[in-house]
Amino acid sequence: MKLLIHGGFFSESSQSTETKIAKQQAMERIITLAHEYLRTHSAKETVVYAVKLLEDDALFNAGIGSQIQRDGVIRMSASLMDGKSKKFSGVINIQEVKNPIDVANLLQNVDDRVLGGDGANAFAYAHGTTKFSTEIPQRRKEYEEKVVSNGVGTVGCVALDDYGNLAAATSTGGKGFEIPGRISDSATVAGNYANDDCAVSCTGVGEDIVSAAVAAKIVTRVTDGMTLKNAFQKSFNELAEFDGFAGAIGIDKSGNMFWQESHPKIVFAAYDGTNLTIFD
Ligand code: ASP
Repeated sequence: MKLLIHGGFFSESSQSTETKIAKQQAMERIITLAHEYLRTHSAKETVVYAVKLLEDDALFNAGIGSQIQRDGVIRMSASLMDGKSKKFSGVINIQEVKNPIDVANLLQNVDDRVLGGDGANAFAYAHGTTKFSTEIPQRRKEYEEKVVSNGVGTVGCVALDDYGNLAAATSTGGKGFEIPGRISDSATVAGNYANDDCAVSCTGVGEDIVSAAVAAKIVTRVTDGMTLKNAFQKSFNELAEFDGFAGAIGIDKSGNMFWQESHPKIVFAAYDGTNLTIFD
């Protein structure tokens, strides 16, 4: 029973020590709650639970605190992959919902499992999701000053439960100032992927993550017999060939956990019930 969570990147040059401490504390609080939850819930239920807690924390760029796009509107994306059923579901560019990961979770039971834009909004509202603005004053101020907030980042969780099931969930407010219609990696198999062998969630520049197919490649390499560490390193070497910007967390079926970033440093926590590792 183990899990990792991430909350995007931390930049020493543009973020304060207070922000770093706040993010470390948030990581510790959320991974502790999520690990407790994993005692009585499946890996799939737990990754949704953890990502909801991260979406609800305005320190991170997902749910509340999401970045604002070029036209002044927030559009969010989230996805969930259950390694056991191999079902990937997600929402792309959904608006005015508090927890996009909940909508991705609802879509696990629907034939059409990835919905975008108006269709995603309509599905969410038709299935009991209430309208909720995830905008916070700080993001509006940054938008008006035309500064993309460096301090925020996509969130994600990968988990292995006591029955050996793996799952991955990822949620994002995007890059900030993107052209409306831009598609993030977070609700694609490049940004979030899991099967019976491995689960991976990414953060970073979506275009780079998609170009290197990061999550799907790492998981496939582990399935084909590579160790988790080697699969990460090979995939990040390929990303480095074009100076791609990404970070990822991963866990395999034996409970090995690994994380890596192309540029320092990914905000993450890993917990196996005994050892808690938090980014420094
Ligand atoms: N991957 C996200 C995107 O490109 C952004 C991030 O991870 O911070 O939309």
